[in-house]
Formats: sequence, structure tokens, C-alpha cells
Amino acid sequence: ARTDPLLKVENLRAWYGDSQALHDVSFDVAQGELVTLIGRNGAGKSTTLRSIMGIVRNRKGSILFEGQELMGKRTYQIARKGIAWCPEERGIFADLSVRENLTLPPILKPGGMSDATLLETFPNLKARATSRGTQLSGGEQQMLAIARILRNGCRFLLLDEPSEGLAPVVVKEIGRQIRLLKEQGYTILLVEQNLNFARSVADRHVVIENGAVVDTLTNDELAVDLDRVKTYLGV
Ligand code: ATP
Repeated sequence: ARTDPLLKVENLRAWYGDSQALHDVSFDVAQGELVTLIGRNGAGKSTTLRSIMGIVRNRKGSILFEGQELMGKRTYQIARKGIAWCPEERGIFADLSVRENLTLPPILKPGGMSDATLLETFPNLKARATSRGTQLSGGEQQMLAIARILRNGCRFLLLDEPSEGLAPVVVKEIGRQIRLLKEQGYTILLVEQNLNFARSVADRHVVIENGAVVDTLTNDELAVDLDRVKTYLGV
């Protein structure tokens, strides 16, 4: 018997003013699963994450998390249910040290990692504990952005393009960290345009085009259908 998915998005539509960005987004994520949202620039991937989080408020359809409807809820209420969001722009405090960045986020649920544990988990950050955000490399900033959302105790992570703008060797390291989080039982929904990176971390892929889901593939199916999926991404 299949258990209910942890997250179930159904017929999600979203607007920026009069402009409709999402037309029909439906997919689900099982407990412990790592799912990517892939698609080209402007397809609606970030808007999907922002709609789940309630940051895009002009939205319709249904978003069930642990069977509870998130539609109509405010962002702080959604966060308190156990969903953490790492935005594309990373959102770290540039003038604060790594350690300060890790101590600031509120604790929303029991079981979050302490700053000491976070520095052990991300050795690159430990070496930079007293450095300010502005002194970090792009890869270190991205790791800090992911690390800081692990403090609040949320077990469902929304990660928006963690590989963006990073050198291949750094992308590999981020991938390793994300796989470790999955092994620790986190459920992850990851927005990506880097297909190789997506393949290296995910169980399943949801393809978005023009604000709608056009395909869903397991990682094995993606390997077989790689050329077709590449056309969705325009590569
Ligand atoms: P990207 O990787 O470029 O962010 P994406 O797939 O995440 O691509 P979205 O950022 O979700 O795409 O954008 C979906 C559509 O919504 C695009 O047409 C975009 O121009 C539009 N859009 C995104 N943010 C805003 C905003 N704040 N105001 C108005 N339109 C927006």
C-alpha cells in the first residue's frame, strides 16, 4: 500500500499582477524523496517554490503538506509546519560572520542543527567561521545558505538552483552535501537547470514548461530520454 505523499501540489496557478506565471502545476513528493523541478529560464520553477512558501500570495489550486492545506496560509505559518526555503539569491547576511549567519535563524521545530553541528557538517564553513558573508566564495555562500536553513528544524527543504554560477568542482561538493542531507532523512525539492547536477542527486524529475508540468521521469527514465528532456531545457 502506498502512503500519502508528504507534499501534494494540485492544479497550482499563480499570478504576478495580471500576468499568470503558473497555469497548471501538479506533482507530489514522497517522504524522504529528492525531486527536481527542471525547465528553462522563466518556466515557473522559482514561482512554484515561492507559491508553496506563500511568498507568491496570488495563487489558486491545492498544496497539501502532511495532508494539510497550505492554500490561504501565510509564509510564517507554512514555515512552522516544517518547510524551509533556500532562495535563488541565497539570502545570507553579507555583513555578518558565518557563525552569526548560522545563529540567527529562528528555531521552528525541535531537531534543528546547532551552529556547532552545522560547522562540523560543512567543513568548508568551519574554516571560515569568523569570515563575513562578503568574504566568502560563491560556493561557500551557497553552502552557508543551505546550512542556515537546517537550523530551524524543518525536514522538508526547498532549494532554488544551488548550482547556479558555481564552478564544476564546487557543484560536485554541493551535490555531495545534498545527498548527505537526503541520507539523513530530509525530503528535498530542488529547482535546477543543470541537468547533470540534477541527475547526480535526484530520485525523480518534474519538467516545467510555460508554467505547467509537462513530464515526470524517474532518474533512470531521464537517462534513457535524455535528448528529449534536453529540448525542454533548450540545451
Ligand atoms: P529562473 O531560473 O529564471 O528563475 P524559473 O523557471 O524559476 O526561471 P520563474 O522565476 O518562476 O521562472 O518565472 C516564471 C515567470 O514569472 C516568468 O515569465 C517571469 O518573468 C515571471 N516572474 C517571475 N518573478 C516575477 C515578479 N516578481 N514579477 C513579475 N513577473 C515575475
